[in-house]
Amino acid sequence: MTGKVFTKEEWVKALEGLRDRYKVFVPVRDGDFHTFVDLETGNRPDFRYPNTRLSPKSLVYPQSERMFDYSLDGSDPDVHLMKEASKRYVPRAIVGIRPCDSHAFQIVKVNFDNPEYRDPWWVRRFESTTLVGLGCNAPRSTCFCTSVGGGPFSEKGLDALLYDLGERVLAKALTNKGEELLEKMGGSSAPDSARKEAENLARSAGEMVAAGVSTGELGEKVTNELFEAPFWEEVAFACINCGTCTYLCPTCWCFDIQDEASGKAGDRIRNWDSCMFPLFTLHGSGHNPRERKVQRVRQRFMHKLKYYVDRYHDGVQCSGCGRCVRYCPVNIDIRKVANLMDGY
Ligand code: SF4
Ligand code: SF4
Repeated sequence: MTGKVFTKEEWVKALEGLRDRYKVFVPVRDGDFHTFVDLETGNRPDFRYPNTRLSPKSLVYPQSERMFDYSLDGSDPDVHLMKEASKRYVPRAIVGIRPCDSHAFQIVKVNFDNPEYRDPWWVRRFESTTLVGLGCNAPRSTCFCTSVGGGPFSEKGLDALLYDLGERVLAKALTNKGEELLEKMGGSSAPDSARKEAENLARSAGEMVAAGVSTGELGEKVTNELFEAPFWEEVAFACINCGTCTYLCPTCWCFDIQDEASGKAGDRIRNWDSCMFPLFTLHGSGHNPRERKVQRVRQRFMHKLKYYVDRYHDGVQCSGCGRCVRYCPVNIDIRKVANLMDGY
């Protein structure tokens, strides 16, 4: 392992120095939680955080985004023409992202950037972003990244990875993008002792992830049999369809598109949506194929743990961040549901 070391003070100063070339996003304390904000805001980054409550997916895929605008003014030569809304794609760096959340971007990428379809906004924003991960020295009891293809120091999807060594950080470049960013930051070459310390840290953190899920048999299951399984009523019983699980999840990607007109101008906007909401599948005819709660809850788990598995043959649509487990108000736990499905 090669890398550079910085004292923590040097690291924050070096990040400040990046601001003339990158828009830098860092975790900051926000009440009882942490959230990613632009370093420009003057907030002090706080890298001693378990993870943000909201995942950083919104930095690449905003919760609400103008896609097009149009004019309804008959005297405008462009009346009724949809024009792509103008956006700026400056180089950005998300610094301190946890490995489960960078893994999540890779999971989501198969939907927004694949041989059949490229979502221009997601792709441009993702490509202009450098992801600098921060390994997890102390995974939480709700983390299960190691059983879904990740780990507390996984390098999946990252351009650079940071190891918190107490007084110092060790930064390791993983891609050209990461190399380029670290070159601008100074620091000194990591001595053997720091590299050894980082390797030990990664090893012991991996052993601390106690929770896991079984997913190895999901691909072999017959879809219709899982769909008709007797456990869905019980799984869904307590759900209040609040949508918290899908909104906090870094791997949920569903959206709805709305036109909003005001006077003689309008915008076409896309907003995150959730399969947990009854309106999500309501047809114009009034028919709703998922009008019952149990149908919606089943859809969420079947999508993540069966349809995704069958379509992409690359694991499940979950990076094991544990947010839905921690914040579901009625304690519905995807780990239990995955085990039920895998063992059915
Ligand atoms: S967070 Fe829990 S209660 Fe809310 S929709 Fe998700 S599973 Fe249902
Ligand atoms: S399903 Fe739950 S544990 Fe998995 S990535 Fe989404 S929020 Fe995290």
